[in-house]
Amino acid sequence: MGLSDVAKGEGALRRFFVEALNDQDGICVITGSEARHMTRVLRMKPGDRFVLMTGDGRRYEAKVAAMGGREVKVSLVAPLPTPAPSPIRLTLLQSLLKSGPMDYLIQKTSELGVHRIIPFSSERTVVHLNQEQLSRRTARWQKIAVSAAKQSGRSIPMEIGPFYAYGEVIQGYESVPGLKVILWEDEPCTALKDALKQASSFECFTGIIGPEGGFSKEEVRTAGAAGFVPVSLGRRILRAETAAITVAAVVQYERGDLG
Ligand code: SAH
Repeated sequence: MGLSDVAKGEGALRRFFVEALNDQDGICVITGSEARHMTRVLRMKPGDRFVLMTGDGRRYEAKVAAMGGREVKVSLVAPLPTPAPSPIRLTLLQSLLKSGPMDYLIQKTSELGVHRIIPFSSERTVVHLNQEQLSRRTARWQKIAVSAAKQSGRSIPMEIGPFYAYGEVIQGYESVPGLKVILWEDEPCTALKDALKQASSFECFTGIIGPEGGFSKEEVRTAGAAGFVPVSLGRRILRAETAAITVAAVVQYERGDLG
């Protein structure tokens, strides 16, 4: 099977992900949850072929060489073309949300090609996590991002974090170039549509979405002073996760690689 056939046929092959390849002469070892999935759940056997994705965006056609107790030895058959990431580097600064909605937001914005999500807490953020809870939650979000990358065929999973307080994240993004917006449900004049129409070409887009309770006027003003244009997504009040998915889809459709 030639490379192009593999690439065509790749859709049928299962995908597995390793952070780092660490291959020796074309052989690498998969351990942990991916190895468990291959051996216990899928009961794969030597000779089975699959796609191996790495954390730095490389992809290979691979096949099982040997199965051990907790590890799977695989041989790399051929490098595969990696889909180019979107021409727009999309970053969302997202208030912490309750567990379910945040998980859903991470999965859907991953599928939509968002490059990075930075979680923050603002005045009306209702979720408060201590350091231990935050690192557990971040590990969970990263798992969701990896499985969304595998499922959607993204070469590099969405990055998540680090976590900041609202003021810090605004300060941190003050000098970031490109189009920067804060999604404000009470914005009376400017729609996201207008901001996109008026913006010259940009490679970076940064959008801020608030918590279930929204933003205070002061928080919107602070963002405005740092170059974030307050924009509306229309009259209806969307849930935060809906707003995040909508802004990602709209920007990818207008300026990115959706469609
Ligand atoms: N405080 C609001 C709800 C906030 S919705 C209320 O009246 O109940 C959560 C977040 O989603 C908001 O902070 C905002 O970032 C975004 N959002 C929701 N609907 C929006 C809209 N129509 N326009 C712009 N942003 C919106």
